[in-house]
Order: sequence, then C-alpha cells, then structure tokens
Amino acid sequence: KDLYGPGRRNSAGVELGHEASLHALIAEIEAARSSGLVAATLIDGAPQPGAERPVLSPSNGATAVGRVREADEATADRAVDAAQRGFRDWERAPAAKRSAALEKAADLLEARRGLLLGLLQTEAGKTLDDAVAELREAVDFLRYYAAQARDLFGEGEVLPGPTGEDNRLLHRGRGVFLCISPWNFPLAIFLGQVSAALAAGNAVVAKPAEQTPLIAHEAVRMLHEAGVPGSALHLVTGDGRVGARLVAHRRIAGVAFTGSTEVARRINQTLAAKDGPIVPLIAETGGINAMIVDATALPEQVSDDVVMSAFRSAGQRCSALRLLCVQEDVADKMIDMIVGASRELKLGDPRDLSVQVGPVIDAEAKQRLEQHIAKLKGSARVHLAAEAPATGYFVGPHVFELKRQGDLAEEVFGPVLHVVRWKAGELGQVLDAIEASGYGLTLGVHSRIDGTIAEVVSRLDVGNCYVNRNMIGAVVGTQPFGGSGLSGTGPKAGGPNYLKRFAVEQTVTINT
Ligand code: GLU
Repeated sequence: KDLYGPGRRNSAGVELGHEASLHALIAEIEAARSSGLVAATLIDGAPQPGAERPVLSPSNGATAVGRVREADEATADRAVDAAQRGFRDWERAPAAKRSAALEKAADLLEARRGLLLGLLQTEAGKTLDDAVAELREAVDFLRYYAAQARDLFGEGEVLPGPTGEDNRLLHRGRGVFLCISPWNFPLAIFLGQVSAALAAGNAVVAKPAEQTPLIAHEAVRMLHEAGVPGSALHLVTGDGRVGARLVAHRRIAGVAFTGSTEVARRINQTLAAKDGPIVPLIAETGGINAMIVDATALPEQVSDDVVMSAFRSAGQRCSALRLLCVQEDVADKMIDMIVGASRELKLGDPRDLSVQVGPVIDAEAKQRLEQHIAKLKGSARVHLAAEAPATGYFVGPHVFELKRQGDLAEEVFGPVLHVVRWKAGELGQVLDAIEASGYGLTLGVHSRIDGTIAEVVSRLDVGNCYVNRNMIGAVVGTQPFGGSGLSGTGPKAGGPNYLKRFAVEQTVTINT
C-alpha cells in the first residue's frame, strides 16, 4: 500500500558529491545566514516577552546563532489555555484542509532549505549530510502524516451492520497535545510530533529542547504561514522546568515526548497523579543498542557499519550503536579495522565540509562523556582515545573493550563505542545480557548464517533490527522507528499506527 498517497515518494535529497548542486546549496545556506534571529514563545501567533539569552553554537561555545526569549511558568500556562480555545475549530476543520496545510508547510521547508540547513549546522552542530538527511525526514513526516490523516480522519470507516443502520468508526483529536522534543533532531522529531498531533485534529503546544529553540521557532512560523492557525499551534521556549509545568497543566490531553528514559518516567508520574481524565504518553527514549557480529560476517562491511552507527552525528542518536558484541575468533581483526577507520575521522566545526564528526551539544554533555571516558580508562582496555579540538564542545571517538557486557548499564550519548567478545557457543548469554538491560530500541546483526540471524532477531524485543547494514537513519514509511521496554511506549514514528494514538475513537450508529 502506498502510504504517501498516489505517486508520492520520500522527499528528494541533495547529491553532495555533485559539485554544481553542492555549490548551489552552500550559496543558499550562506545567503540565509542571519544572526538576528530571535526565538520567542508564540501564543496565538504572537511573540511573547521573556528573559532573553543568546543561543550559542556548540562548535565553539561562543558565537551567538541568535537569541531566545524564554517563557516563565505563567506564560506556559497561557499557551495551554489558548490552545484549548483553539482546539474545536481545528478539530472540526475537514481533515483534507488540515492535511493541505501540512503539505504546504513541507513545500515551504524545502523552499527555505538554506535557512534550515544553516541552523542545523550552527545551532545543532550537524554536518551538512546529517542536516540534509534531517530536513528530508522532517518533510517526509509532514507529507506522510498528512496523507494518512486524509484517510483516517475523513468520513470514518463504514462498518457492517443490519439493514437500516449506518455504523461508522471515526477518529478525532483529543484536545491539547503537548509535544516535547529533543535537541538531537531539532527539526525532524520536532515536526514529526507536531505534524502528527495536528494532522489528528489536536491543538498543539510544542516545547522544543532549550538548546535548539531557533530552528523550532522558524519551523512553527512556516507552519503558520502554510495555513495552520496560530490558535491551533503554540510554541513555548524554555528549559525542563517549563516542560514540567506544561505536563502538569490540567488541560493537557496527551503528551508526545522524545528524550531520556528518566524524564519519560517523571512525565508519566506527573500525568498519573493528576486529577481529571487519564492522559496518554507517547514516549521515545534511549537504548543500549547492541550489534552482534559472528565469525562469518564480512569484515569491511562490519567496519563501515560500526563506524557509521557509533560515530556519525557524534553518536548523538538514540539509535546509535553503543555495544559491539564480536565473536572471539575475528575480534582482533575487526577491532583493528574499526579503530583504524575511526582514527581517520575528522572532527571540527561542521561548516567545514571535510568534517565528519561535529561537536556534542553543550558543556554538560561534554562533561558527562568525559567523566564516563575517565572511568573506563581506569577499568577497560583502551583501543582508541582520539583527541578533540580544545575549543567548542568536542569529544573524540573512543573505543573501549569491557571486561563484562553488564559493565555498560546506562546509555552513553556520544561517540563512545564499547566492545565485548563472545566465544562460539556463548551467543545465548550475550542475548540474555542484552535482554536483561531492559532496553529495546535498535539492534544490529552481522552474520551470513540465516539461522543465527533468525535466532537473534526473534529472541530480542527490539524495535528496529538491522541485518548486515548500519543501524541508524530510519526512513519515514520504510523503517517505522521506536522501541519498547525502557526505550519507549510506541507506536512507531513514521509508521502506519502512529496517528491513531494521537486520537480518540468514536463509533456512531444511525438508525436510518
Ligand atoms: N530515527 C533516528 C535514527 O534512526 C534516531 C532518532 C533519535 O535519535 O531520537 O537514527
């Protein structure tokens, strides 16, 4: 089934190896670069006052990419109240009209790619190829949910029943949906949550990560320009305190959250403790994502896929590889190849096109990673400890071999790869330990034995399994994304069941 609707496909990328298209793209980014951007809370489309601070580029920790005016708690409350007032008009608008606005926004995003790609580079520290991939994903989410909503939220599904009766199952918006999104995909995940909630007929209060308010602000303004009323989509800037205030508001009818397991748990607790209706949470969280490599795997392919999965985007994807489990017989050779390739990776400001690994997001992230690295330097075997530039928030790629698989008990969000060896006959124990971690987001398997692949994939409750390839970069409509257990609640983003969780169902029976 063509989930995008007739003739539609994923959005086109840019061939960065083609000189003319690369130069055109860079000219657009340069032309759009502006240091005058201000991200403000938007209520009914109007910018709100707030405490102002600069948004600093993680590439040097000093250049102001723009400024943000952060909301206080009273402003956050007002955004929810305004969304409540805007809800009914948006919910009653025909699904086709809502979808048309989202599709127009997708076109606007593509037309203004210079601004958005530039912000992904400077505000979020993304390399150009990561930025291009993220813009594509954002556009895909908008078009994918818009196409699905036309079907799901239209006239409803006619159900069989006795003669003289019309039975229909309808899907309708829930009310005010709160979307809390992360800095690591400040455009794609931000817009994925927001567009799903809007397509399903909800009014939205969007709370982007405090590190990346500028791109969220620009994206919301594009949605407004494309025809999503200001009364249906409100933006609240600020840190976790503002997020917590929004979660606690009595008018919130649903929450979509992507971020840490710990914060998801806190949101769940707040929602559970509130009076009033029972409020659903859609959470996408982290993982201790493993890759299993056996002695039949192709070494060059493993090396490429490991380096890409562990170090692309500076390891700041929740899908990224954290734990490589390699069969003893081939471990030395595989580790050598991986370390050799990782040593060649160039770190730096991603506006330099030869850079492959950009910064981590902020000083706190860098400090947390450095503490983890210092600890492992004392307790694990160090295969690689790459230097990083001194200015900016950089962490060089690291490869550590652990004594025991259980030594990695928490997600480490950055360019640090952990390796363990297993002996022939011990694969079952490796899988037991992965299962025992409680996470289930992504899994890689490299093997030429069908039985091994089938055993590994069927044994583990992992949301996204990648066999004989890298394990990042899920594509909307092709690899619906999301995990279970400590990794999230589902349903999967970019999959056929996502929109339903943003909606209530209504059965209408008419005696004709
Ligand atoms: N969907 C992204 C991927 O497949 C990861 C999303 C995230 O990091 O939250 O790489």
